Formats: sequence, C-alpha cells, structure tokens
Amino acid sequence: MIIIMKKEATEDQVTKVYFKIKNLGLTAQISKGEERSIVGVIGDLRKVDKESFKMLPGVEKIISILKPYKLASREFKPHDTVIDVKGVKIGGNEIVVMAGPCAIENEEILLDAAKKVKAAGAKILRGSAYKPRTSPYAFQGLGEEGLKIMKKVGKKTGLVTETEVMDVRNVELVSNYVDIVRIGTRNMQNFDLLKEVGKIKNPIILKRGMSATIEELLMSAEYIMSEGNHNVILCERGIRTFETSTRNTLDLSAIPVLKELSHLPVIVDPSHSSGKRNLVLPMSRAAIAAGADGLIIEVHPKPEEALCDGPQQILPDQFSKLMKELNQIAKAIGRKI
Ligand code: PEP
Ligand code: MN
Repeated sequence: MIIIMKKEATEDQVTKVYFKIKNLGLTAQISKGEERSIVGVIGDLRKVDKESFKMLPGVEKIISILKPYKLASREFKPHDTVIDVKGVKIGGNEIVVMAGPCAIENEEILLDAAKKVKAAGAKILRGSAYKPRTSPYAFQGLGEEGLKIMKKVGKKTGLVTETEVMDVRNVELVSNYVDIVRIGTRNMQNFDLLKEVGKIKNPIILKRGMSATIEELLMSAEYIMSEGNHNVILCERGIRTFETSTRNTLDLSAIPVLKELSHLPVIVDPSHSSGKRNLVLPMSRAAIAAGADGLIIEVHPKPEEALCDGPQQILPDQFSKLMKELNQIAKAIGRKI
C-alpha cells in the first residue's frame, strides 16, 4: 500500500509514519515529490490496520497497490527514476547510449572500440567477460582477465563501464571491476542471482527474458529492488516469436507499456533483438522514437573477426552515423542525446 501525505505535511509527520511502518516489521520507502511525499509500505499487510495510519497527523489517504510488483510500479513512485552513474544520468531527459563489442576479446580491440564509440557520443562502454553461449565449445569469455581489461579501458577513456554477471559466486568480483552490472536474458528469472545483485550498490541492467512477459520482467526487477538496490534499468532485447527472419522480435510496444507501468528507466538492445547488422540502425531509431531512455548496441572494429555475434555487431562508422540520426530524433521528441 502507499500512504499519500498531505501537501502541508511536515518532515516530522512523515518520519512518524515511517517509524510506525518500521515498528510493524515492514519496509517503508519515502518518495518526495514536488508537491507532496508518498510513503510506500512493503511486506505482509494482512494483519495491518490501515485505519490506524489514516489517523496519523499529516496523512491524506491510503491506497492499495493492486499490481504484484510494488517497488517497481509507477503507483508506488509516480515520478521517473533517474540513475546517476559518475555523472551519466539514465532515465532523465537525456538519452544515454551504451556501446562496445559483444565480448571483451583483448585490450587492443576494446580500447579501439571504446575510443571510437566515445568520439561518436556513447557514454557507457559495454562488453562481456562472461558469455552465456548456447554451445559449451564456443568462446566463453575471458573471465576476470576480461574484467581487468574493462576496468583499464574505462579508466583510460573516462567511459562508464558495464558487463554481465552470470553466477552468484561472481557478483562481488564483477561489482568491484565495473560501474553497471548486467543480468542477461537467460538469467532474468535466476532468482538467487537477482537477490544477490539486489545487495550491491552498482546499478543493474535487467534484460527481459526471451520468453518473459512484461509482468514477469517487472517481478524480476522487484526481486532486485526488494533487497535494497533500487537502481534497476529495464532492457527490452527481443522476444521469441514464430518469426525466423530476425534472431528475436523486438517488442517496441514494451517501451511505452513499461514506461506506463513503472518509473524505472527503459533501454533497448537493437543488436540481440535483430541479430543482423543492417537492422540495428532502423531498430535503434524506432526505439528512441518510441520513448526509450537509451540503447545498448554492439560495436566492433572488425566484426568479421569477432569471437561472437559478428553478424550483428556494427562498425564504428555506422555507429557514428546512427548517433547523428538519433540526435535529430531526440530533438523531434523534445529530448537530448
Ligand atoms: C549481451 O548483451 O551480451 C547478451 C548476451 O544479451 P542477451 O542476454 O540479451 O542475449
Ligand atoms: Mn552479443
């Protein structure tokens, strides 16, 4: 449930409400809006006497949240969450582009890609050290060696860094090397992993499971948030449909639907959703036009030699062209890039 405070409610009255919730063994979250404060209550509310909250000074009304996800819902927090990572704001008016190779292959390639995507306007460097591959014989990633390279290249270029974590045992390790931690599509419902990344401070990119509904995605965000980490970035990366001409089907409508249901930032991965280089530019344009707060794009200086996902990684020149186009689209919808 949420407790809506009166416009004129004092700081002290909000604090009293907060402690009443805490004393009942429940979790309270205060959200300060421009006009009034809202206090969210999470936990088993079956034995809670809602009327007793109504009587507290400064309380205007009590609303029950009907959605199964609470902390992630817009009912709970009406204004957009803006996540600040070293000054890069995700979820605000400015569109944030993350780019880089699928996998961290070596320092030379990552640095080359990083310099080029930065010059084109990317703010965040992507790249995986742990790769969830369909085949156990395919390149599995460089592991900690790759994390070290990512950290070094991030430092050299001044880019914010991000990478995937696949295993609960590596959460702490990964969180020490990069700024943003990514949960891949295959782990969206690995609940132990979600709980573990809920305990770290790094923002989390949560990719939609390839066969997951929007509600399931939001329930997974709830797992992370319920452990204390509220900095979750939702990522639409394509879902499985009967269509075979693309690797997945990019669910563009998920963007406005998620923005309506949740206050969390929403980004789009046009690379894994399409699986084809020539589709990355049009799908990126569409995603921004549909209201995405950012993109995560695979860019490789020599995709023909890439150790994974070569066919979908775009060239740095294509990326520069795309950034210029996105600039125009951002302007047309009253945003910046
Ligand atoms: C990735 O972004 O590196 C990746 C593997 O994507 P997904 O989990 O969406 O397949
Ligand atoms: Mn990839």
